[in-house]
Amino acid sequence: MRARGLVDYHLHTRRCGHAAGELEDYVRRARRLGLSEIGFSDHFPLLHIQDPSLSMALDELPDYVREVKDLAARVSRPRIRLGIEVDYVAERIRELTEILDDYPFDYVTGSVHFLEGWGFDDPRNLDGYRGRDLFSLWELYFQVLGDAAECGLFDLLAHPDLIKKFGFRPRGSMRRIYEECLDRVAAADVVVEVSTAGLRKPAGEIYPGEEFLRLCRERDIPVTLGSDAHDPREVGQDFHLAVEVLERVGYREIVSFERRQRSFLPLRNAGAKRD
Ligand SMILES: [Zn+2]
Ligand SMILES: [Zn+2]
Repeated sequence: MRARGLVDYHLHTRRCGHAAGELEDYVRRARRLGLSEIGFSDHFPLLHIQDPSLSMALDELPDYVREVKDLAARVSRPRIRLGIEVDYVAERIRELTEILDDYPFDYVTGSVHFLEGWGFDDPRNLDGYRGRDLFSLWELYFQVLGDAAECGLFDLLAHPDLIKKFGFRPRGSMRRIYEECLDRVAAADVVVEVSTAGLRKPAGEIYPGEEFLRLCRERDIPVTLGSDAHDPREVGQDFHLAVEVLERVGYREIVSFERRQRSFLPLRNAGAKRD
């Protein structure tokens, strides 16, 4: 089982309004796969939109943190980390920083789900793609991703090429756009998530694609793994495929986070030494 010894840092909980299962169900699945660590990273309350089907409410955040910390205290295999997935919204950085500083997160994941207020990865908003120039849309997305890397709030960038989710891809090479974005990510020293969630979407491909990941490797940008599970059955899903592509582009280790400090786990037989 190629998930053995790995981490899955992108798990949701029922609190977000669009995920299923109890925390314990996610843990059981992870243990069965032999994952050495999992991190819950539920959606941080959206400050700019109130929608209970997108995230927990702000007053639920203390309960979420308590619930995950209690679980972490009870469970040793796999180790449980406390994360949170926060939408990058430029105007909210100061407010977000103040809230996040109050909690003992192991890592804070940054996501770009909104471009100029448009929730482009929400199937309810597919209309927004109509008539768009896809090249400039991708250009904008990767600029905003670079902004997210530089804003100082995030340890990790989730599903870095999420803009491909519905399979709308521009013609022509994206290389220059990727390079400009990744130069900023490298300078900001932020970790990139390799997410198997894209395989379950029309994109049909890991986030990020192999070309993007190669450019990460060239810049020594550290990576870690996530499934973006919204159901216990999705924990660690397709991780053997993620490991395959990571090894192919030359990665040998992945990041583990504790209290916002990094350490590295070998990609191959990562958990062996501790067993
Ligand atoms: Zn979600
Ligand atoms: Zn997510």
